Amino acid sequence: LTEDAQAVVDEIEEKNVDFLRLQFTDILGTVKNVSVPAEQAEKAFTEGIYFDGSSIEGFVRIQESDMRLVPDPDTFSVLPWRNSDEHASARLICDVINTSTGEPFEGDPRYILKQALERAEELGYTVNAAPEPEFFLFEEDEDGRATTKTNDAGGYFDLAPKDLASDVRRDIIYGLEDMGFEIEASHHEVAQGQHEINFEYDDALTTADNVGTFRTVVRAIAAQHDLHATFMPKPIPKINGSGMHTHISLFTEDGENAFHDGDDEFDLSEEAKQFTAGILEHAPALAAITNPTVNSYKRLVPGYEAPVYVAWSDRNRSALIRKPAARIPAASRIEARFPDPSCNPYLAFAALIHAGLDGIERGLECPDPVRENIYDFDAEKREEYGIETLPENLGEAVEALQEDETVFNALGDHIGEKFVEAKEQEYKEYLVDVSEWEIDRYLETF
Ligand code: GLN
Ligand code: MG
Ligand code: MG
Ligand code: MG
Repeated sequence: LTEDAQAVVDEIEEKNVDFLRLQFTDILGTVKNVSVPAEQAEKAFTEGIYFDGSSIEGFVRIQESDMRLVPDPDTFSVLPWRNSDEHASARLICDVINTSTGEPFEGDPRYILKQALERAEELGYTVNAAPEPEFFLFEEDEDGRATTKTNDAGGYFDLAPKDLASDVRRDIIYGLEDMGFEIEASHHEVAQGQHEINFEYDDALTTADNVGTFRTVVRAIAAQHDLHATFMPKPIPKINGSGMHTHISLFTEDGENAFHDGDDEFDLSEEAKQFTAGILEHAPALAAITNPTVNSYKRLVPGYEAPVYVAWSDRNRSALIRKPAARIPAASRIEARFPDPSCNPYLAFAALIHAGLDGIERGLECPDPVRENIYDFDAEKREEYGIETLPENLGEAVEALQEDETVFNALGDHIGEKFVEAKEQEYKEYLVDVSEWEIDRYLETF
């Protein structure tokens, strides 16, 4: 056993952990787990745990379905909602190994992100990321099913008693802290029933792991309060949807922030600008991965603080990328505002990183920032400024993905193909569905 693995085995003993949940994610970003008795910990670390990958979304064909899970000891954490002095459960996030080759499985999203980080490392960078996943809390009906009725009518930064959910939010924060999160802030978001909890940035792999954990903890604790937490991007029409703004910076090997340049007007280095230019250039294809559901595109419309136009800004929030004010050099970063929390965080970060690095490698020129409210621009003005729009729907985004080699290759062939297939199918199903809006509008009119 490695030193780290041994430390986990000791902790399992100490904390009376009975069961280990070995976790990984499928292509869509859903956390999956296999539960094993804690006695299997050593075996898990040395040999891995075998499972049948044929039943996991987008993993493999039936005839080649044997996979092996190898836990990453850095991700050990006792589950706060399954914890008593005598009996506890813990989770470990795993890498997926293909048993027939002994190599990492290309269908494992965590591996795809590791590949992106390797490319960054070859160029001399490590990647830091911090997401801001927003979510809604909804009431459950008598059968315990989610409704779209919010449990409060608070607004941006409101305080109790309007913000009825602050107790729930506090319990969620305790749960997250128990799982090792450092919470920076939490607040009631703009929409009624909408919330945001910010946690400390970390390296991109840890942060992607954290997004999965965050979603799990938020949902579990909300359920204890008989509420349903949802990360669906636009659950209620005509009010703000939920984004997952993602802050990114590159650091050099000696721990300097490669995105910082104190002499620059925007406090951004040449690399930061090229990285930004890369994301802007690849934005339509990226959207398929960062905004991967039919519903994602109902959020990306003018007027709700979500981006629609492909531009960056050091001021306004209608841009696709914003440069937040930084108090110290280490905090210089860019904020991609288009991702939403229905994305697979591993794939979304991997794609953003590849797009940005492409900008650096090709020395792309960054356009000027746009300081006006782009929502107010008409088509003519957008043309004058050279501002493109994001795809209007999932179908357009998936097409853009197929036409963009850099972004498609970021996913690797295996996930790239399965992802496109799954999303084309999803979009087709949506197109033939008849919505409530159509019934309301047409049923009695015609
Ligand atoms: N909810 C907005 C979005 O969809 C963001 C609002 C905010 O964080 N100020 O991105
Ligand atoms: Mg925020
Ligand atoms: Mg927010
Ligand atoms: Mg933000």
